[in-house]
Amino acid sequence: MTYLVTGSAGFIGSAVVDELLLRGERVIGVDRRHQPARPGLLVLTADLLDRPDELLDAAFADADAVVHLAGCPGVRDSAADVESRRRRDNVDATARVLAAVPDHVPVVVASSSSVYGGTCGRPSRETDVLAPRGGYARSKAAAEARCHQRLASGGRVAIARPFTVIGEGQRPDMAVAGWLGDATAGRPLPVFGSLQRSRDLTDVRDAARVLVALAERGVCGPVNVGTGRPHTLAEIVATIAAVTGMTVRTEVTRAADADPADTCADTRRLRDAVGFVPRTDLATVVARQAAASVSVGVRNR
Ligand code: NAD
Repeated sequence: MTYLVTGSAGFIGSAVVDELLLRGERVIGVDRRHQPARPGLLVLTADLLDRPDELLDAAFADADAVVHLAGCPGVRDSAADVESRRRRDNVDATARVLAAVPDHVPVVVASSSSVYGGTCGRPSRETDVLAPRGGYARSKAAAEARCHQRLASGGRVAIARPFTVIGEGQRPDMAVAGWLGDATAGRPLPVFGSLQRSRDLTDVRDAARVLVALAERGVCGPVNVGTGRPHTLAEIVATIAAVTGMTVRTEVTRAADADPADTCADTRRLRDAVGFVPRTDLATVVARQAAASVSVGVRNR
């Protein structure tokens, strides 16, 4: 099979490429950021919205399955132009991908658990009414609406709703990556809201396995990508302290309205769709992430 992965130079995208190459699949990786080619990976460095691009059109038309991860991530991004970047990279880029891929070809689109707006006293279910709380979540809900149009016209698309993903290569704006840097530098760890808040955390390798399985099986409709076993921020901070061997201090500040207190996935549909539910061994994944960030630091010196 030939899989086309958008956002292949990114955090989750590069793990999906690794997973596919490990399985011996052919992969076309599309990203506007540079990434090295490797055996089995054909790299197309392009912006999804730059037109015309005959090479990109041909790649979308010929792929056997597409995993669409390119986007403008980050709930807390508050730069002046963020709304137009979210519109462009989350909504318009998704519409472009869906239009370019023939209806019978499975597409997996990365939405986000943020469309739920947090838990309502029980794990979030795919059938819940969406309650997006900020610009990022609203852009993902708008992208999902494009996916529902494809489903309504008989096309295939899985709407993956990842909860927080952790592991090597995590974006520096995300909590574990930031906290590892802060702990190592002896700075206090900024905590939004309270240490009792909780997050459903998925190992990036498991998230990649789930996304590939959704594509391989041609699953349609929304599917949570999570574990159903959240960790409190206090547990995450304690793990960072144990992994780095540092004494860590925290600084608790007010959380943004868009930042829900707790997240937790209902995993029943995930199990039905792909046959397994990830379990996150927090200490192991954080140790892996810390080791990878040290080796990147050494390489960049
Ligand atoms: P990332 O920023 O590391 O990767 C995204 C990649 O997409 C980047 O390499 C970027 O260059 C590329 N890209 C963006 N717009 C593009 C365009 N128009 N054309 C070509 N390339 C483009 O982000 P990530 O953390 O790997 O997230 C991947 C996807 O999963 C995003 O859609 C994000 O919203 C979603 N998601 C991530 C998480 C998480 O915990 N990381 C959770 C929920 C949802």
